[in-house]
Amino acid sequence: MALIYQALELVGDDGKGRGLFHYCMSSDEEKWPPSPVGGCAENCPGHSTPEAARLHYKEWQINHASTLKIVRSSQERCKVCDEWTQLRATVGSQFFEEFPLCEQHNTLEQLRVLYYEK
Ligand SMILES: [Zn+2]
Ligand SMILES: [Zn+2]
Repeated sequence: MALIYQALELVGDDGKGRGLFHYCMSSDEEKWPPSPVGGCAENCPGHSTPEAARLHYKEWQINHASTLKIVRSSQERCKVCDEWTQLRATVGSQFFEEFPLCEQHNTLEQLRVLYYEK
């Protein structure tokens, strides 16, 4: 099973799209309906564009589900300055993305830039 993250338009009781978007998670097996995730799951009224919904989710992830300065046994090059480092920063809880960032660049600000670019 694969999880699918995407911005979906909210549908009103009349079945018509409301022109507002939430960032949602669903599965490719369609056993459960898509549900809003991150900030969109917390009384979010919806966003006028899919991109704004995606950013709302990403900002929530950065603020609630990121970890800085994790030490790994292997060296990788820092995403910012290309120096070798054992340090990583991650975003996400159950399914996380990991970024190699050196001591100097292992900050929320750098992580936000890298994560938003994806
Ligand atoms: Zn939202
Ligand atoms: Zn660096």
